[in-house]
Amino acid sequence: MRIRIIGGGVAGLTCALLFAKMGFEIDIFERLTQAGKGCSWYAGGMLAPWCEVESAEPLIAKWGQESLTFWKAEFSGTQSFGSIVVAPSRDTAELKRFARRTENFEWLEADKIAELEPDLEGRFMAALYFQEEAHLDPRTTLENLTQRLTLEYDTKFHYNAEISEAEFSDPAWDWTIDCRGFSAQASFKNLRGVKGEMLVLKSSEIHLKRPIRFLHPRFPVYIIPRNDNMFMVGATMIENSERTRITARSIMELLNAAYAVHPAFGEAEIIEMGCDLRPSFPDNLPRIKRIENKFAKGHVLHVNGLYRHGFLLAPALAKRVVDVVLTNAYFKEIMDEA
Ligand SMILES: Cc1cc2nc3c(=O)[nH]c(=O)nc-3n(C[C@H](O)[C@H](O)[C@H](O)COP(=O)(O)OP(=O)(O)OC[C@H]3O[C@@H](n4cnc5c(N)ncnc54)[C@H](O)[C@@H]3O)c2cc1C
Repeated sequence: MRIRIIGGGVAGLTCALLFAKMGFEIDIFERLTQAGKGCSWYAGGMLAPWCEVESAEPLIAKWGQESLTFWKAEFSGTQSFGSIVVAPSRDTAELKRFARRTENFEWLEADKIAELEPDLEGRFMAALYFQEEAHLDPRTTLENLTQRLTLEYDTKFHYNAEISEAEFSDPAWDWTIDCRGFSAQASFKNLRGVKGEMLVLKSSEIHLKRPIRFLHPRFPVYIIPRNDNMFMVGATMIENSERTRITARSIMELLNAAYAVHPAFGEAEIIEMGCDLRPSFPDNLPRIKRIENKFAKGHVLHVNGLYRHGFLLAPALAKRVVDVVLTNAYFKEIMDEA
């Protein structure tokens, strides 16, 4: 069976890995010069299924836990130290509200917070600790997936290869798996972009081991430690489709939140500001949409809508994609018309 994947983001690469592991030959077509440089490039890499349920459907927690197991097994860079949720002292009510809407956490008092994260000593009186959560560096992960596919599974990557929708049901391929992210908007009547802006800061004065989620009135801000004294600070959630415009207000809010978590962020170097559109459906759940071809070959599967859960959901979604292709499986939650 010949399978081609359009788009080398986290969705395309995880689908490719699962098919490759089953012995299929895969070709990936990516319009850019490298895989992983679309929306996936800007992700924080939070693997936080229990926290996310605060504002997401239970399916996200279920599939998120499945994906967490996948990343821990497949990618040695997965950091399994849990995550911590804090709020400014005037917003303890917010923390209690967050606790009511989530599960699988422990309340921490100041001394316990300092034990886990010495740099936060004396800064917060209470926190929630989601011990089983994890995080990864998306860029290293995407590079690692690309290398594994190339070296271990002989997957062929075709770069500078923009495939138009008219070419999708080409019977030269048994299956085309469309993982174009927000660029596939024309194939889905309800796909919208939710803008996310982020920052990368560098500071040798701060040493955090795990993501810190700071409850903020407009959007959840998180600070995620990366290698070489770097910290990703993200991310705004703005309902517009301005793919690249980063506003001063957003950057001010992200920096204020970082400063509130630790004042040493005030002296940090700004390494990068980034922005992209999260591909999202009205219910913020992903979708698999199957298009039949009247010829024996040339079936198309559109896979999209990973919203703010690309890394959290992609492995679980890829597993369903394999099941649809191999066993004609049907997943009601994500395969009703989109
Ligand atoms: C600031 C920010 C922070 C985020 N933080 C997190 C997080 O902490 N955890 C998490 O799980 N998710 C997070 N997300 C969400 C996550 O990044 C997305 O859900 C995910 O990247 C979507 O992946 P994708 O593969 O569908 O799309 P993309 O990564 O955009 O991949 C699509 C690929 O298809 C290619 N392409 C498009 N059209 C064509 C064509 N015609 N032919 C060939 N190639 C084509 C593109 O170049 C691109 O490489 C965040 C997003 C943002 C913006």
